Amino acid sequence: MEQGGSGRVALVTGSARGIGRAVAEALDRAGHEVIGVDRIRQDSAFLARMIEADLADPAVPVQIARDVGRVDVLVNNAAVLISKEFSATAVADFDLTMAVNLRAPFLLCQAFAPGMAAAGWGRIINVASISARTGGRSQVSAYAASKAGLVSLTRSLARELGPSGTTVNAVAPGAIETAMVEGLAPELRGRFVSEIPLGRFARPEEVASVVSFLAGDGASWVTGATIDVNGGWVMV
Ligand code: NAD
Repeated sequence: MEQGGSGRVALVTGSARGIGRAVAEALDRAGHEVIGVDRIRQDSAFLARMIEADLADPAVPVQIARDVGRVDVLVNNAAVLISKEFSATAVADFDLTMAVNLRAPFLLCQAFAPGMAAAGWGRIINVASISARTGGRSQVSAYAASKAGLVSLTRSLARELGPSGTTVNAVAPGAIETAMVEGLAPELRGRFVSEIPLGRFARPEEVASVVSFLAGDGASWVTGATIDVNGGWVMV
């Protein structure tokens, strides 16, 4: 942690790799004490504390909250993407997607919002997706629905938690170079790049910088927003 930092505690889910790891690094650089939660092993110099937990389990968010105490900044980033045709998407696929991508953020917000309210200051940032706006482009119906739910949850909580000093925002990334998009067929990837005004996939750090902005004092008048971080791929 840098000297003269914020001194705030941030909890980032899905912090082992990809966007979550980059967010942990950015928040550490901004002076936060960063707690990382992931179901896979973490190995990061940016984390003050690492928690190995499966967020598909609804008991986990409350356990984590009991364990860590006060959190000022909550970043709901962990997610699973199961790419299957709609007709082939099983109940188990749907349930896992909703459990990790939507229920866990819901429960983590529920667990940490009272502490933020007591402090009179809090930041919740939900990592949604461009697919919340488009429905997705690669057979991801359950995933896209979970992300649209997360955008709606962001708005609901912005209203409910605003009076107690907590802002709630989302980012909607698209085409970020992480494990999540590794399996994309080359022709699909090429088509996507041709549709993106900035003409490339992005680095995870290019999402982390926006999350870091939303976590800071400079975003004090931003709440209920979903910020597109997609190179101009979709503009709404
Ligand atoms: P990623 O797969 O590299 O990272 C996801 C992380 O979440 C992993 O570390 C994984 O272990 C963790 N995770 C998954 N299930 C978990 C569980 N049950 N319990 C605990 N941790 C769990 O992918 P990423 O691209 O870095 O994704 C980060 C976020 O960005 C996700 O919310 C994703 O939906 C979103 N997003 C990514 C893209 C993209 O192009 N990469 C686009 C839109 C949205």
